[in-house]
Amino acid sequence: MKLPIYEISKIKDNRIYIKREDLIPFSFGGNKARKALLFLKEIEKGNYDCIVTYGSSSSNHCRIISNMAAMKNLPCCIISPLEIQKVTYNSCMMELFGAEIVYANIENVYDTIQQKLTELTCKGYTPYFIPGGGHGNLGTQAYIECYEEIVEYEKENNIKFDYIFFASGTGTTHAGLVCGKLLHQNSGKIVGISIARKNPRGREIVINSINEYLKSVNRSLPQEVIEEATIFEDRYIVSGYGKKNEHIIETIKEMIVRYGIPMDSTYTGKAFCGMKEYITDCELHNRNILFIHTGGTPLFFDDLYTFSEDNND
Ligand SMILES: *Cc1c(COP(=O)(O)O)cnc(C)c1O
Repeated sequence: MKLPIYEISKIKDNRIYIKREDLIPFSFGGNKARKALLFLKEIEKGNYDCIVTYGSSSSNHCRIISNMAAMKNLPCCIISPLEIQKVTYNSCMMELFGAEIVYANIENVYDTIQQKLTELTCKGYTPYFIPGGGHGNLGTQAYIECYEEIVEYEKENNIKFDYIFFASGTGTTHAGLVCGKLLHQNSGKIVGISIARKNPRGREIVINSINEYLKSVNRSLPQEVIEEATIFEDRYIVSGYGKKNEHIIETIKEMIVRYGIPMDSTYTGKAFCGMKEYITDCELHNRNILFIHTGGTPLFFDDLYTFSEDNND
């Protein structure tokens, strides 16, 4: 895939570039689309005939997986937390794609998934299970490929990115980018802006994903090298998943007005805003900085509705 990378503005005297993963040409794109394309290959290779996955009503992952299932005429079942049932553009699309939604209390999610897989197997299906958010080695692989596109851009344009920023959630995108950096022995820093998880747990999950991936391809690297390369920044999560403040809202408005780039308050807007604060807080100067736009366009429209309301929560 060759997605646009281009320079937008300067922040202080730093040059800011953006990579538009949101323009991947399937179901509004984004990192979940990049991961889904690898899952689809596995599904077709293994002759699976239905898909089970997990995520909430606002999940970009579930929208894309249910779209892919509908396109391939495969039944799709989404296990969804009872606690988060808000109607969103993503949930409307899941319905449109005919996904079966099974609600479960968060603590019963694992059991509900197992039950569903057993039930489908008993009915004669061969279900393919995709972890929430496309977490796992295939998701990591997808973001090594993204990193390789960045390396290609650097070579073609004779530039080196000193920093790469993006929204880090389940940590799979983060793990892939760090694996890419380590396998290419590049010096640029990869900074995941956490959108929900705190340290030390959030960072440990990324490190575990990196180790798991390297093991699966029979590679090993010293732990201290992996540790040093994994920067998980938890200062900009506001008060948790999906929570926003006025800086994030201002960032989203500015990005669409000045550049025509849609962002959202859960992922990309929060991460871009976090990056701006990081640049100030860490006094970055005269650097080449790349922001990876990881998608989530339907969430931009969910946010747009709330901009005219007084209550921004
Ligand atoms: C899921 C998601 C992320 C986080 O990706 P992970 O691989 O889960 O860390 C970032 N941005 C958007 C738009 C997402 O949907």
